[in-house]
Amino acid sequence: MNRRNFLITPPAMALALGLGSTPLQSLAAPAILTPASRILPREGKKPRIVICGGGWGGMTAARYLRELIPNSDVVLLERNPTFWSGPMSNKWLIDIVNTDFVNHDMQRPANRYGYTLLQTEVMGFERDRKLVRTAHGLIEYDFLILSGGIRNAYEAWFGNDQRAIDHTRTHFPSAYIPNAEMFALKRKIQEFKGGTLVMTLPPPPHRCPPSPYERACLIAWHIKKNRIPGKILILDPKPKVAPIHMGYQTAFRELYPDIITHVPNARVQELDPFNKRIKTSAGEFRFDDAILMPPHQAAEMVWQADLIGKDANGKPTGWADMHPRLFHAHSDDSVYFVGDLMGAISDQFGHYPKSGHVANYVGRIVARNIAERVSGKEVVARLPDNLCYMMVNAEPQEEISVKFEYEVDPASGKVIQTQIDMDVRTEDLVKEDFAWIKEKFSDFLAI
Ligand SMILES: Cc1cc2nc3c(=O)[nH]c(=O)nc-3n(C[C@H](O)[C@H](O)[C@H](O)COP(=O)(O)OP(=O)(O)OC[C@H]3O[C@@H](n4cnc5c(N)ncnc54)[C@H](O)[C@@H]3O)c2cc1C
Repeated sequence: MNRRNFLITPPAMALALGLGSTPLQSLAAPAILTPASRILPREGKKPRIVICGGGWGGMTAARYLRELIPNSDVVLLERNPTFWSGPMSNKWLIDIVNTDFVNHDMQRPANRYGYTLLQTEVMGFERDRKLVRTAHGLIEYDFLILSGGIRNAYEAWFGNDQRAIDHTRTHFPSAYIPNAEMFALKRKIQEFKGGTLVMTLPPPPHRCPPSPYERACLIAWHIKKNRIPGKILILDPKPKVAPIHMGYQTAFRELYPDIITHVPNARVQELDPFNKRIKTSAGEFRFDDAILMPPHQAAEMVWQADLIGKDANGKPTGWADMHPRLFHAHSDDSVYFVGDLMGAISDQFGHYPKSGHVANYVGRIVARNIAERVSGKEVVARLPDNLCYMMVNAEPQEEISVKFEYEVDPASGKVIQTQIDMDVRTEDLVKEDFAWIKEKFSDFLAI
C-alpha cells in the first residue's frame, strides 16, 4: 500500500461513502481511500458546517447549529473515540468522581441532535476551496468552526530537542489536554512515595487559570491523608496566586502548611528533565517528581489554517486572529473560533478565561451567529460570562469559586470584565459545582 493510502475503519467508511446509518454488516469489503479523496458528499443545498474538535465548545456548537438551522448538515470531527471533560478531572485524579463521570459517549448526542460525528484527525485546510483535510480525506464546508482547544508549546523550553520533549511528556505529563496523559498522572499520584513534587504553571493566558492550584490542593490532600512524606512546590510565573487569591492562600496556609509552597515570579528559564533540575527567575530547584506544564497556545489546527494572530512586532501571538465580538477570523469570515483557542478580546483583560463554561457559552453564540447569517438576518454581537468552582479540601469537601461578568463600555465600545472571587471555602459551593456540571453535561452530551 502506498504510504499516503490507508484502510479506513467500517464506521468511518460508512460516513465516507455517505451511507449515514446504513448497517455496517451490509458493507462487503473495506474501501481504500487516500487523503485526497472527497468524503461525506453533500446532500442537496443544505448549508454545511464543519466543526473541528469535539470538546466543550465543538459539541455545544454542533447541538445548537442543528436546532437553530434545522436544514443544516453539521459535521463534527474529533480525534478521540470518546469525550473527556477537563472540568471535574482534578477531582477524578483523587477518586472524588469516577471515570464514568468525566468520560462520555459522543455518538448519543450526535444521534439525538442529528449531526454527523467522524472520528478522524484534522490535518489541514484548503480555505480557498473551502475544504478540510482529514486523515480520512477532504471534506467540504460553507462555514468552518475551529474548536480544537490548546497545544503544549514545549519548544518554548526545549527548542527542537525532541528527546527532551518526549522525555518530559512521558515522565512528567502536564495532563491538561484530553488524552492518555490524564491516566499517566493519576498513576503518578497513586504511586508517589514522597520527596519534592514540582508543578510548573504556564504563563498567562493558559487553560483554566484557577485549576492548577486546585490540582495542587487535591494532591496535597492525598499526601496528607496517606501520610506520604512529600511536598509540593508550585513554580508560578505570575507575581501572585490568581484568580481567587485569598481563597487559595488561605487553603494553602490552613490546610496544607507543611505540604504546599507557592513560589511567585518563577518563570522557567532552563529545564533538565533527565537530571530533574529546573532554573527559574525565582531560583534553581531540584525535584523528585513533577507535573511540568509548558506554555499553552491555540491547537495546531489554527496554525495549519494560517489564522494565528500577530503582535505589534509581527510575532505570532499563539492564539487565533479573530473579531473579538463576532468570533470569526479577521481575514476569513467563513471561519469561526470557539473555546480555548480564541484570541484576545480586550485591552483591559486580554482573553476570556479559557474555561469549559466560556467554550460552552461561545459555542451557543457562534451557532446563533451562523444561523443569523444563513437566514439573512443581522448578526447580533453577544457576550458570555464565566463561572469556575474549585475544590480545595476533600474531607470535608469544600470549594471556592470565581465569576467573571462582561459588558460593553459605552465610552470606548470595548468589552470590560468584572471579577468576583468567592474566597471563603464552603460545602455549599460543592453542591453548586455538581449542579453546574450536571446542567452543562445535559446541554451538550444529552445526559
Ligand atoms: C484539570 C482541568 C480542570 C478544569 N476545570 C475547569 C472548571 O472547573 N470549569 C471550567 O469551566 N473549565 C475547566 N477546565 C477547562 C476546560 O477543560 C477547557 O476550557 C475546555 O475543555 C475548553 O473547551 P474546548 O472545546 O476549547 O477544548 P477541548 O474541550 O479540549 O476540546 C478540544 C477537542 O478538539 C480535539 N482536537 C484537537 N485537535 C484535533 C485534531 N487535529 N483533529 C481532531 N480533533 C482534534 C481534542 O481531542 C478535543 O477533544 C479545566 C481543565 C483542566 C485540564
